[in-house]
Amino acid sequence: MMGISLGKLIFTLVVVVGVWTLFKAIARRGGKTHVSPAQRAARKAEETVRARMGGRGGDRGGGEAMDLVRCPSCGAFTAEGSTCQCGWKAPG
Ligand SMILES: [Zn+2]
Repeated sequence: MMGISLGKLIFTLVVVVGVWTLFKAIARRGGKTHVSPAQRAARKAEETVRARMGGRGGDRGGGEAMDLVRCPSCGAFTAEGSTCQCGWKAPG
């Protein structure tokens, strides 16, 4: 009369739990080698930030942002105070 017997119910439950456990084990094992592109990008960004922070060591990076002056004779951008490849000396 009853479509679902207790045995069938338990069997279904065991199968579901078994498959779920299997998938979890596979995911855990594969998790170390397989990294999603988003995770990889996040990790790379974190590495870049850390490298930049570590390299500068808390110094506010005064020398990093150099003002570029456009050379009036050849049009190339040169750092302030340096000489252009054409010989023009940038002020600064
Ligand atoms: Zn120049």
